[in-house]
Amino acid sequence: MYAGMAQRVTTCIVGEHHMTENSKFYTLKGYALQECNAVTSSMEDYLEMIYRIHTAGQPVRVGAVAENLNVKPPSATKMISNLKKQGLVSSEKYGYIQLTASGLELGKYLVFRHDTLHQFLCYINRSDNELEQVEKIEHFINPGTVQNIRKLMDRLMAL
Ligand code: CA
Repeated sequence: MYAGMAQRVTTCIVGEHHMTENSKFYTLKGYALQECNAVTSSMEDYLEMIYRIHTAGQPVRVGAVAENLNVKPPSATKMISNLKKQGLVSSEKYGYIQLTASGLELGKYLVFRHDTLHQFLCYINRSDNELEQVEKIEHFINPGTVQNIRKLMDRLMAL
């Protein structure tokens, strides 16, 4: 039993050392951003949605963010001002919300984390919708684990 555990630990450490440049980007930058800033679970949900709207090529406005997250606009305004305080977004004229460089990096990681966990849970549960569980657990999983799930899924998908 002990040998089995040691084996798993070794595999985990080796896995960390064999990360590609791209995975280092998600792991180190995403992790550092999460640690340095007091980014709450709720702020993560907002930033993830802002990043999704942004990458869909849509202008990011408070109304669109509120609608997509099923919250009232004043709640969105308040949370966006928290993101602003953390230097993740900035507001331009006419109410458009811009992602800062840090906001783009963390937003990219949050979407990567969400999509990786969703793919993983759908795979093991043989389902096509695990959104509720993903929303509940995604905030508590660390970047190394997300990265290892990604590698596992990439291997499984290549079979
Ligand atoms: Ca999410």
